Amino acid sequence: MKIKDILGQGKPTLSFEVFPPKTEDKYESVEKAAAEIAKLNPAFMSVTYGAGGGTSQYTVDIASTLHHEYQVTALAHLTCVSSTREKVHEVLEELKAAGIENVLALRGDIPKEGPVASDYRFASELIREIKACGDFCIGAACYPEGHVESVSKTIDMDYLKQKVEAGCDFVTTQMFFDNNILYNYLYRIREKGITVPVVAGIMPVTNVKQIIRSCQLSGTYLPSRFKSIVDRFGDNPAAMKQAGIAYATEQIIDLIANGVDAIHVYSMNKPDVAAKIKENLSEIL
Ligand code: FAD
Repeated sequence: MKIKDILGQGKPTLSFEVFPPKTEDKYESVEKAAAEIAKLNPAFMSVTYGAGGGTSQYTVDIASTLHHEYQVTALAHLTCVSSTREKVHEVLEELKAAGIENVLALRGDIPKEGPVASDYRFASELIREIKACGDFCIGAACYPEGHVESVSKTIDMDYLKQKVEAGCDFVTTQMFFDNNILYNYLYRIREKGITVPVVAGIMPVTNVKQIIRSCQLSGTYLPSRFKSIVDRFGDNPAAMKQAGIAYATEQIIDLIANGVDAIHVYSMNKPDVAAKIKENLSEIL
């Protein structure tokens, strides 16, 4: 099923994300985690794409397993900044053959040594290419706090509009920890005339070091309420996990209460975290 049709049903949706392994010996454990999350019956599941594209086959294979063995709508991520046109076409053909209808089109992070053999500069170019290649439902990334390389939020929004005009059907946000940031962003997005569905990306924080580093890199704002939780429980993994799940659950409940119905949880290959969040929302979804 196409994700734009799932999002168009006018009711809250909960979806989850998994990332592929870096090496073959980890494939089985990632596939097992993906399968457990799939059994929670999410609206869809996304499978990320390893930077550089070296593990693209794993993305396709896990998406295909979700689709065929668990009947879960799969969203395969695809990055372009270190890719050739030929490689993009190869992956798209594999996705088509596997019956995957949804692709999240991304530029990807520019490697420190610069893009390798790239035929693309921006995600909008990839979106055009995917559109020309078949009948895919296309998603793109968006940044409520502005993309880290962007000169200003206004300019970043101009480029988001280019992605939508290039043919993307929905956008998924970068993680955020203060819902007011999303509400302001939604207001500005709609003012700009961008009408596609916005899927809110929620990160349940369980690994503090990893998240703090990734927030520093992406410029994500950490509210003081969030910092207090990290200060108090950061050294106790079990307590941090419980607090991180509770914080994410509260964020989701507030979003749904305010009409933001499409929720995507960055579940990071953790079925227990995904299951707990789903359970916490059992009367809401
Ligand atoms: P773009 O939309 O191309 O934007 C990149 C930068 O260029 C922005 O600063 C933008 O303002 C600017 N820009 C855009 N168009 C133009 C233009 N025409 N002229 C000048 N400037 C322009 N990374 C992975 O490696 N694998 C993944 O699976 C993955 N999944 C992600 C999922 C989500 C929901 C999000 C939010 C991010 C994900 N990322 C992933 C990270 C992403 O690849 C990086 O954030 C990357 O730096 C930007 O990708 P983009 O598609 O947003 O780029």
